[in-house]
Amino acid sequence: MVKSSNQGYPRLGEKREWKFLLEHLWSHKITEAEFTAQTKALRLANLKKQQTAGIDLIPVADYSNYDHVLDAAAAFGAVPQRFGQFNEKLSLIDYYSVARGTKDAVAAEMTKWFNTNYHYIVPELDHVQFKLLDNRWLTYYNEAKAELGIDGKPVILGPVSFLKLSKVNDDYVRGELLSQLLDELLPLYVQIFRELAAAGAKWVQLDEPTLVTTDKAELDLYRHALEILHEVAPDVNVLVQTYFAAVDYYTEIVNLPAEGLGLDFVHDHGENLKALQEHGFPETKVLAAGVIDGRNIWRSDLTGKQELIDQLRENVASAQLWLQPSNSLLHVPITTANENKLDPVIKNGLAFADQKLAEVVTLTHAANGDDVTAELQASQTALDQLNHSEHRNNPAVAQAVKEILAAPTERRSAYPERVKAQQVLNLPLLPTTTIGSFPQSAEVRAQRKAWRKGDLSTTDYQAFLDQEAKRWLKIQEDLDIDVLVHGEFERTDMVEYFGQKLKGFTTTQNGWVQSYGSRGVKPPVVFGDVQWTEPITVRDTVFAQEQTSKLVKGMLTSAVTIINWSFVRDDLAKNIVADQIGLALRHEVQALEAAGIKIIQVDEPALREGLPLKPRYRADYLANAVKAFKITTTGVKDETQIHTHMCYSDFEDILPAISALDADVISIESSRSHGESIKAFEQTKYDKQIGLGVYDIHSPRVPSVEEIEQNIDRALQVIDIHQFWINPDCGLKTRKEPETIAALRNMVQARNNVRAKL
Ligand code: GLN
Ligand code: ZN
Repeated sequence: MVKSSNQGYPRLGEKREWKFLLEHLWSHKITEAEFTAQTKALRLANLKKQQTAGIDLIPVADYSNYDHVLDAAAAFGAVPQRFGQFNEKLSLIDYYSVARGTKDAVAAEMTKWFNTNYHYIVPELDHVQFKLLDNRWLTYYNEAKAELGIDGKPVILGPVSFLKLSKVNDDYVRGELLSQLLDELLPLYVQIFRELAAAGAKWVQLDEPTLVTTDKAELDLYRHALEILHEVAPDVNVLVQTYFAAVDYYTEIVNLPAEGLGLDFVHDHGENLKALQEHGFPETKVLAAGVIDGRNIWRSDLTGKQELIDQLRENVASAQLWLQPSNSLLHVPITTANENKLDPVIKNGLAFADQKLAEVVTLTHAANGDDVTAELQASQTALDQLNHSEHRNNPAVAQAVKEILAAPTERRSAYPERVKAQQVLNLPLLPTTTIGSFPQSAEVRAQRKAWRKGDLSTTDYQAFLDQEAKRWLKIQEDLDIDVLVHGEFERTDMVEYFGQKLKGFTTTQNGWVQSYGSRGVKPPVVFGDVQWTEPITVRDTVFAQEQTSKLVKGMLTSAVTIINWSFVRDDLAKNIVADQIGLALRHEVQALEAAGIKIIQVDEPALREGLPLKPRYRADYLANAVKAFKITTTGVKDETQIHTHMCYSDFEDILPAISALDADVISIESSRSHGESIKAFEQTKYDKQIGLGVYDIHSPRVPSVEEIEQNIDRALQVIDIHQFWINPDCGLKTRKEPETIAALRNMVQARNNVRAKL
């Protein structure tokens, strides 16, 4: 019999109950006892749902009070010294101190979990003596069994991946140190496995996601760990789980000493399937096949999935095959059941976590010869209705994209000629600007809330926004900034804002996904063909320009960033969706230009986020990103200056792509690693204008004039002064007004000092 399995269930709760429990604990609205009881109820309800759905292998210990990497670190006693010395299980207070910081100790660093928008807490292993403080895997295994009769599958982050995701001395653990630390860590896993074996656990899901990016030499480390675990707990079957991409060393990895292997057959570019067909699969092993997309929100084409499963079964016996989502469902919202405002055609085309599990169960039944005709039929009908709907068959969009792709999407002239044309802008040496947003004060948020609730009329709300923009334009003038912005007060989010104004987008009521800790994001949904129907930013930008004799910069979000921060339809290739959005934004750029706006910034903060895990797919991704950006930005006159902005300092490897965007000016975050950024420009000569952020906006600290001046001086050693712009690292929306003004004042003073030295 084929079995159904799941790798992990979302924590947030259907109505974000989990998030509120955490936050209520932090704000002392509930006691620890209430928190413990209520999170337990939620955890059991989640398990029960999976049990009722008919999932055979239900994950346990995937639950977390914040983050699963932090859980492992805390259980292993791998807590930075600044939070104290721990000889027993961390209290909730101590656990949250690590995640959120205290008044004396800064929070642990947080970083992206592979190529997702989930952020994990990076374990800091400096001076750490591993010690098992809490076998949480055993606790949760026993709980599921006692309370619900579920013989669960504990999910443990594997030792090699845990170490590779950790840092020592600010560097990720690699090389010699990795094997040394592995030897120190393995005894803890041995203890966990022994205790699980004694409790009767049959399967453990050992997540080793780093197996998809590992080099060949390191495979020995994974093998070594598995050999030891097998030796000490021969009765526990180990399923080594990979996800997010194909494995590169298929034959080595299928032969690792484990009873099962989990492979992703959705995000593998077909490579896992090809390897399986070429090299077969060990007869005695379980293949946990990720067949349902665990990263998107769409219903699957079950007929297509059945074909995939048939191909798998040519190489794997039924008794050895598990079907499951491609990765933990942590990355998708929970259920479509509570969405009651969506067009039914769209709603029926969606599958969140619960619906995905139902798909897994249907496919498992089908594989076992059960009659699921009705389910397959219903699914097909829903999919057909969405795919054949007007939303996805807008001939005007198809035609327009075809035309724009046939035309050259290049600026009319090359950069050197554009610079000459742009002299009409009359910008001074070391032009000075900000990245776009100004503080979204309590008042801004209160007014927006009142407007959304209907307590404030649109006219009054707009008047408030205008007044706020006006106030900040005056502040910018007084500070002597050269290129001004309107401040983005009308936007809660730079992607959602455009999603609400373009055709083809919608929003859900409960489509939340955990981003980090208690924080969720509710990405917009690109469900259909994207079309620009009317000007979006023109009114606010023109209003701002009318208030000042200085130039005001228009502010848009690029197609690729919109895509990387949205849930995108999966019936079209992403690059085609990007072309559609790119074209919609091209209309907006041209509308701004026609309305007299002379500088337009198209933000690209998420370009890096979509970068494929495997280097071999990156060139393609970047080429498509560049194409979409150019569709948006190349329809303007030479004298119109196009800016872009990116939010990360490690851009060395993508510098050629950044240059290929052909933006006249780019601003890049860099103050936190100024030396590194500068180095990139020693190696590669950048030929257009650039603003390396001269101060860090991520903290309320006001940088001194000297410090900023030094940053400018250093940058000017590698970048020609005629190419250099002065700006902060990023937008200022999360900062407070006084610190923002103080920091900008110092920035302008530093610029004046540098100008005076010339
Ligand atoms: N223009 C945006 C802002 O200033 C850019 C934000 C970002 O880079 N993430 O807020
Ligand atoms: Zn930024």
